[in-house]
Amino acid sequence: MDKTLVLAPQPRNMIENSMFEEEPDVVDLAKESPSYPIDTDDVVYEPRSSRLLVRGLGENDLDEDEEDYESSARLLGMSFMNRSSNQRSAASSYIRQHYSGSCSMPSTKTMVVGVVVLVLVASMLMVLYFLLGCNFTTAGCQKTNSTMDSIYPNSTNGELFPWADLRLPCSVHPVHYNITLHPDLTIMTFQGSVSILVQVLNETKNIVLHSSDMNIIKATFDGKEVHFLEYKPWQQIAFKFPEDLKKGQYVLNITYTANLSSSYDGFYNSSYVDTNGIKRYLVLAATQFEPLAARKAFPCFDEPAFKSTFTIKMTRESKYISLSNMPKVITTDLKNGLEEDEFEKSVNMSTYLVAFIVADFISVSKNVSKTKVSVYAVPDKKEQVQYALDTACKLLEFYNSFFKNEYPLSKLDLVAIPDFLAGAMENWGLITFRETTLLVGSNSSAIDKQLVTSVIAHELAHQWFGNLVTMQWWNDLWLNEGFATYMQYISIESVFPGLDIDTEFLNVRFKALAKDALNSSHPVSTVVSTPEQVEEMFDSVSYEKGASILLMLNATLTDGEFQKGVTQYLQKYKLSNTKSENLWNSLSQVSKQNLSVSEMMNTWTVHKGFPLVTVKRSGTQVTLTQEHFLLNAENSTDDSSLWHIPLTYVSDKCSVLSSCKQVFHLKEKTATLKLPDQVKWLKFNVRSDGFYIVHYDEEGWKDLIGALKEDMNVLSCKDRAALINNIFALSRSGKVSFRQVLNLMDYIRNENETAPVTEALFQLGQIYRLLDKRSELDLASRMTSYIEDHFGSLMENQSWDLETSVSKMTLRSALLEMACSLNIRNFCVVIDSWIPSDLMRTVFKVAAQTDEGWGKLLDMYKHSINDPEKHKTLEALASTQDVWKIIWILQKSLDGSEIQTQEFPLVINTICKSFAGYLYAWDFVKENWDKITQKFSVGSFAIQSIIMSATSQFSTKTHLVEAQNFFSSLGTKGSQMRIVQEAIETIKLNMRWMENNLNTLQSWL
Ligand SMILES: [Zn+2]
Repeated sequence: MDKTLVLAPQPRNMIENSMFEEEPDVVDLAKESPSYPIDTDDVVYEPRSSRLLVRGLGENDLDEDEEDYESSARLLGMSFMNRSSNQRSAASSYIRQHYSGSCSMPSTKTMVVGVVVLVLVASMLMVLYFLLGCNFTTAGCQKTNSTMDSIYPNSTNGELFPWADLRLPCSVHPVHYNITLHPDLTIMTFQGSVSILVQVLNETKNIVLHSSDMNIIKATFDGKEVHFLEYKPWQQIAFKFPEDLKKGQYVLNITYTANLSSSYDGFYNSSYVDTNGIKRYLVLAATQFEPLAARKAFPCFDEPAFKSTFTIKMTRESKYISLSNMPKVITTDLKNGLEEDEFEKSVNMSTYLVAFIVADFISVSKNVSKTKVSVYAVPDKKEQVQYALDTACKLLEFYNSFFKNEYPLSKLDLVAIPDFLAGAMENWGLITFRETTLLVGSNSSAIDKQLVTSVIAHELAHQWFGNLVTMQWWNDLWLNEGFATYMQYISIESVFPGLDIDTEFLNVRFKALAKDALNSSHPVSTVVSTPEQVEEMFDSVSYEKGASILLMLNATLTDGEFQKGVTQYLQKYKLSNTKSENLWNSLSQVSKQNLSVSEMMNTWTVHKGFPLVTVKRSGTQVTLTQEHFLLNAENSTDDSSLWHIPLTYVSDKCSVLSSCKQVFHLKEKTATLKLPDQVKWLKFNVRSDGFYIVHYDEEGWKDLIGALKEDMNVLSCKDRAALINNIFALSRSGKVSFRQVLNLMDYIRNENETAPVTEALFQLGQIYRLLDKRSELDLASRMTSYIEDHFGSLMENQSWDLETSVSKMTLRSALLEMACSLNIRNFCVVIDSWIPSDLMRTVFKVAAQTDEGWGKLLDMYKHSINDPEKHKTLEALASTQDVWKIIWILQKSLDGSEIQTQEFPLVINTICKSFAGYLYAWDFVKENWDKITQKFSVGSFAIQSIIMSATSQFSTKTHLVEAQNFFSSLGTKGSQMRIVQEAIETIKLNMRWMENNLNTLQSWL
């Protein structure tokens, strides 16, 4: 899946506003304080992996026996959480707590009762253990947390549910599904029947599978009607049998009905606005199953390791077409205007990759090798599909040859869905996209094309990484997402060298470093069990850090070994499931330098965070030290982590050619490197290919800064961008002073390359925004002068003409957007004539600040069918400083009436950049939290983005308390999300930065 919410790369809307000269803490402190305040200073954050989950006791279960249960739970080392009546829900959890050591000696009576309870609980657990049919030796089976630690919950009908784990038992596997579906796009429901051929691997009395939000009408097992039990909190159903089922194959049939989903997952309905501005409802039903929503469309074993084959039949009205993963075999006329399409039997695949669509789309097609590639869109947008088709064909050819394993299906459809939340989804043979990530009009710029190309390249890479070879469980999601992200850069660099994807990848690595420097980050491969934790895995650690460590590995292996190892891995594991270890072993086998890939890479996937390498040089002797880099080390837990770092470096002797690069493997805490000759300076982490940052001693920095001032071309532009990135991070962590940052930045007046300029503007922009939001108007205006002084002449050199180089476009839009938003030298005027596409956003944002301009833009937004243009128009609309417009746009994008709900995270992100908007956005998020979490799943990337946009610019104690109170009041609706920890940590970092730098900025700027 591509998680792009199509946020602007670096939009900075920082127009000063005199409307709000008061301290912007419009916080309603009169509200009653919540029952469960979270303060990360006071509460030791317990990694969720260690939580003992006994979720799902229904409300009624706690009534009379509540006290007994609680005392037995305590004796077992558990304790109740969230027990107040308003928070007690079917999904509430018990959390293991540390023994405090402060309790008094129990009385004899208590001890006797305690022993009796213990014996009873132990016997009950043993009985449950033996009742379960799972064979705990089967690979992939849940060996722990299945029985001994938990108890059986009650089913919907009150009977005991025979399974007590979020993960399914592995005694029964699906072999083949026959799925028949009939969506009714008029009444928004569908009828379905699924016939699952199952293999009983170990004798068992139960079959447990997933099902969610459906009304099961009838179930039969080997032809006989059977009774089923449902446990809704875990979305599981179970069939209990009086006798053990013998090993062998059986057929389970389930007939059901369900509503088409009104959110963005499961089998959902979608609508779109046609060229006349008329909303056309009921034209489309599509699916989005990853990660956990196939169970909303048909009962199934909904875990990635339960691979199976599928045959799908779809009934539809004759005016629509239907699509699924495989090519259509036959269409049968059912009379009454209905037809049934039957699709070929699929390859062996995971449930989250199944997909089907009913719609009135048009398409274009082309053949690549044995595969027919097609691009589908709504009829109005038929002019915008050609670029996607050509691009997909070229990339498919590239991957077919790179992986030495041809794409196995005879068709590959790419479909633009008018209502779609993720960037795209890699369903095997039927990739779904947002319209913005697939459609390109004739006047779209190369930057628009870069986005579309990237998303197509990512999804195509998944056809191998994810679809052909799938991670065993969501803890290794990075094997899918990190790989697809890395392959998108490799393929585009090779097939579309003009798209300057290298600079984009460098920015992506900086982004991943910033997130991973927080204490709230997590290891690449991490334990996940609850649905929310699965959703949370779709974050920049799985994607961007995953891709970054693969780049580091590829740069360490010698020529061709990476590709060779990957090819062998795909060949060996195709159509099955893997863990990280399997990939490392395949790569170790091809490495000629005797590098234990597993030994090296485990240090990058198992530890959270990344190392800071400190370099001290004395003559030819270089001392290297590594430590866990944390922006805020106060609450850090694992400081002993050591990484195997393939350190690279260049010196003044030879620095620009790729042959200059030297490698030193740093595995210990400290090591000494002996240079062959005296050098003037050393620069480590060449081109920022490694996932670490570097700090030098005072002399080291001085030498590098001196070298840059003398001739910046002694270092590649990526190395220059990396120095800027690293020194800002070091300053944020308190390791260098802001004075030193400004020292390095002195050279920037001579800079004209995209990577260093955009990185510098990004970093300065962040500081500007913090100052602006604190109403430090004097310092904000001095920062404006600083930016004008250092970038003014480069800004003046930018043209407003048609530009074809992506690199130059990126540079000028970053510069002009900064100039316009800070109102530097009156660069920006609203022009009525033609605007190059890459500058539209900048110009529209200026236009959106007047009533007339905003009105025109809204009109354009409503009628445009050109998606890249529409997207920029929406960003401009959301950049308004007018409070009423801000409120209007927030409401309309959440209810989906005039702005699609899929755009809500983008709207929040854009509004929060402006001074006027960010407090309204925060209030809006708080007040509408329930509605928001109905549309976007708790933990999902959309929710992560909304929370970070709304809070990442707070830097006062009042806002910290406000955010903490709000998040802790959410209870099961989000208080435990990792992103909440991240938000709180970010506010604290902002506060510290302000405390440390506010006074000194007065003299430095
Ligand atoms: Zn993906």
